[in-house]
Amino acid sequence: MANHNHYIVNQDADINQLQPVWAMVREGLGQQIPASDFRSWIDRLQAVPVDEDRVALIAPNTFSRDWIQENLFDLICKLWIKSDPQNRSLSLQVASGKGPSTNTDAGAKKADPASMSVADTAGHKYRFDNFVVGPSNEVAWAVSKQAARGPQSRFNPLFIHGGYGLGKTHLLRAIAHQSRAQSPTKKVLFLTAEAFVQKFVTSLRGTQSLEFKKNLRSLDLLLIDDLHFLAGKTATQEEFVHTLGSLIENGSQVVLSADRSPGEIAALDDRLRSHLSGGLVCRIAPAAFELRREILVQQVEEMKTEFENFKVPDDVLDFLASKICSSPRELLGALNMVVSGTVLIGRPVTLEQARDILSDVVRATRVKVSISDIKNGTTSWFGLGKEDLLSRRKTRNIVRPRQIAMYLAKELTSCSLPMIGQRFGGRDHTTVIHAIKTIQKLIAEDTALADEVEGLRRSLTKLQS
Ligand code: ADP
Ligand code: MG
Repeated sequence: MANHNHYIVNQDADINQLQPVWAMVREGLGQQIPASDFRSWIDRLQAVPVDEDRVALIAPNTFSRDWIQENLFDLICKLWIKSDPQNRSLSLQVASGKGPSTNTDAGAKKADPASMSVADTAGHKYRFDNFVVGPSNEVAWAVSKQAARGPQSRFNPLFIHGGYGLGKTHLLRAIAHQSRAQSPTKKVLFLTAEAFVQKFVTSLRGTQSLEFKKNLRSLDLLLIDDLHFLAGKTATQEEFVHTLGSLIENGSQVVLSADRSPGEIAALDDRLRSHLSGGLVCRIAPAAFELRREILVQQVEEMKTEFENFKVPDDVLDFLASKICSSPRELLGALNMVVSGTVLIGRPVTLEQARDILSDVVRATRVKVSISDIKNGTTSWFGLGKEDLLSRRKTRNIVRPRQIAMYLAKELTSCSLPMIGQRFGGRDHTTVIHAIKTIQKLIAEDTALADEVEGLRRSLTKLQS
């Protein structure tokens, strides 16, 4: 694999064309993000040409690269696509400290279809070994690993769906990264659906239409992220259906992601739908507390390479994992906020500091919910009688809601397991554990139930806002 820490610059590439484009992108950013973010992150970014087709944005350190990757890179790419008449691809890299070196194999690189990708960057940050696995994502993880092994997995196309921030892009990039690492000659292309549309539209305008198609169809592995973006875009879908058909026929692997299931994507081409049903559709469910906490632990481990003597106390991890339940993305964002409010300015991380720094976030994401709220909310959600949740009745239409209520009591309140058992008809804490485990497992397996739980959770957390 290429060394990602060293960016390569071709001195002949047209530097004059680059800075005005970057200035336009900066201007667009200035209008869309807070001035403080602009100063902290964008001001310190440098745009340098890599070769005719590629531009690198150089961040001063990995922390800032990762932050930008998470929070701004999508926006930067969008503005870039609009601003760059040469349609060069953009990557985000870290200054090597040694200064730019001259690219000697730019010619070889140019033929690589991967250079078609605008957002094809930082693949090394998203790997299988730093993807934390739990009941809500283990199926998606396992089939992704299988798809990375190639040449063609049994799951083709593989379609991974799940809510915002749950790890879809992480898995797709891990697949791309691993396949490239295993067989460097393999033609792998990762594209967001948005970039796909863009490529398609520009290829129609120019004379490169055939080349675009040929390039796509010669791939060994095609990954398209955020497919829901194609909803309603009939002409692009049409092209995509043909590409998909031809790739599958040739034995090439296709991996797709979207924020909802194929059935929920409006205006999806029927042939596309039928291709999808011939492959494997799998879902990433929201992460439970344990997984959220483990994701934090693993992120802290990664940060240790960045900051000397870096430590985050257990109570801070517990606090973050219990308060930020929306998605790993928000969770890691919160951790970053805590780190930049402490370590970066030379303070130790304490629970007190963390609470203080996140007070707004936590207030916004979470309203206080009591066990009574949960009981009332659950009975009315499922249309049960007041006493049903507390009763000893064992019919399934009562057992499930009861288990869901206990599960949510653990997720949304700070009550202990024995206390929850007590409040649900004087049950033992082992019953509560069993209920929580059952629901966790079902959430991972059963989309309808997962949606039910999510809907109820939302209605509960909205109650008092
Ligand atoms: P999506 O594409 O589903 O919106 P991402 O893949 O961008 O979500 O994930 C958001 C962030 O959370 C990324 O930084 C990603 O690395 C991280 N993340 C999500 N799930 C996991 C996981 N299981 N283990 C480690 N990191 C995760
Ligand atoms: Mg994504």
